[in-house]
Amino acid sequence: MKTLVLGGTREAREFAAIASGERGFEIVSSLAGRVREPVLPEGEVRVGGFGGVDGLREWLADNGIEAVIDATHPFAGGITAHAAAAAADLELPLLHLRRPGWHERAGDDWHRVADLATAAKSLAGLGDRTLLTIGRQGVAAFSANPGWFLIRAIDPPEGALPAAYELLLARGPFSVTDETALLTAHRIDVLVTKDSGGALTEAKLHAARALHLPVVMIDRPPLPPGARTVETVAAAWDWLRARG
Ligand code: NAP
Repeated sequence: MKTLVLGGTREAREFAAIASGERGFEIVSSLAGRVREPVLPEGEVRVGGFGGVDGLREWLADNGIEAVIDATHPFAGGITAHAAAAAADLELPLLHLRRPGWHERAGDDWHRVADLATAAKSLAGLGDRTLLTIGRQGVAAFSANPGWFLIRAIDPPEGALPAAYELLLARGPFSVTDETALLTAHRIDVLVTKDSGGALTEAKLHAARALHLPVVMIDRPPLPPGARTVETVAAAWDWLRARG
């Protein structure tokens, strides 16, 4: 069973590691090619965009793909929508693998917002010094904000930047001790993050709780209507095996 795994996440790499060696299953992992030094999945990998829904549909047909697993990041809404449209056109089985989001706990002061623009607006009154951990894309939404930003991302951000900022290029996982030290050393008042979920980048939330800092939490974009979704790599593998 030849399967395309849309990746760029730890879950996609874990899935490829499990499924690639299995008899009867051929896995092709796909990366967007945005990160300069990506961590590559095991097995066959292709890199780069497909060229929209039409390009993806053509690629799926040309390569004899029989199933698609969308294991992209919860905020990669574009490729997820393309996968849904192309798979529907070709009547291919499609599964979305999405790690669970984060949940507020006792002691948290979270401000859930729908998108980046609302996150930027919500900073007024929450503090002057912000740790912005929303990745490389979307920082421009904060470019008109007053105050100071510590911008942490794997690669340098794109587009307009706030007037006052420091850039910290770093890739998780981060420990709670290090996150607490970072927030303290930069006298951070408020943390802005996306509800990416997962353990790799969760430590900042524990640190913010311990320091009683507010967190602006940007909600995930919705999945396509009727999307079939699982939360774990094991469940995705069960789904594929049932089709093999
Ligand atoms: P996006 O907005 O949904 O996608 C934009 C375009 O990038 C897509 O239309 C597609 O180009 C191409 N693309 C995206 N993922 C691809 C994949 N796995 N293989 C081939 N092409 C892909 O996605 P994004 O938010 O820019 O994220 C890009 C990649 O980074 C995703 O694979 C995602 O898993 C990973 N990632 C994203 C985030 C995040 O916060 N957004 C965080 C960590 C990792 P074409 O239209 O030309 O096909």
